[in-house]
Amino acid sequence: MHKLARMKEQGSEIRFILDVHLGRLAKYLRLCGFDSLFSAFFDDREIIEIAMREGRVILTRDRLLLKSATKAKGYLVKSQYHDEQLREVFDRFELKRHVKLFRRCIACNTLLEEVRKDDIEHRLQADTSRYFSKFRRCPTCDRIYWEGSHYDNMKKSLEPLL
Ligand SMILES: [Zn+2]
Repeated sequence: MHKLARMKEQGSEIRFILDVHLGRLAKYLRLCGFDSLFSAFFDDREIIEIAMREGRVILTRDRLLLKSATKAKGYLVKSQYHDEQLREVFDRFELKRHVKLFRRCIACNTLLEEVRKDDIEHRLQADTSRYFSKFRRCPTCDRIYWEGSHYDNMKKSLEPLL
C-alpha cells in the first residue's frame, strides 16, 4: 500500500463506527479525540452502509457483521472489557500519538468549541467556577466540559495507555 494512503487511514484522520455493544469504547475513543460514531439503534446493515459512505472503520465484536461487510474496513474487537478493547484499537491503528483530550463531546461525538467563562458561568457550580478557567461547549448537545469534569475518572483509566 502507498505509504501516504496508509498514514491517512491511521492515526488522526481515522474515523470509526462502533456496533451496539461497544458504547463504552466509543466514549473512550471520543475522550481521546477520535471521531467515533455510535448509536444503540444502528442495525448491521446501517453500520455497513455508513462505514462505506463515510469511510469509517467498523469496530465490532460480531464476526458475522464483519463477514457481511466485505467492502468496508473493519476490526474484530476481542476483549469484552473496555480498557482492553481500547488498548487493542490503539495498537491496531497506532493511535497513541494522535490523542487529543478535551476535544470531542463524549456524549455525541461533536467537536467542542471554546467558550468564554463569562458566557457560561451561570451554569457552573461555585467550586467549578472557582477552580477552573478554561471551558468548552458542545454545539450539538450543549454540554459544557472542563479539564476537571467528566474527564477525571475516565482519564485515570487512560493513564496506563498514554
Ligand atoms: Zn455533544
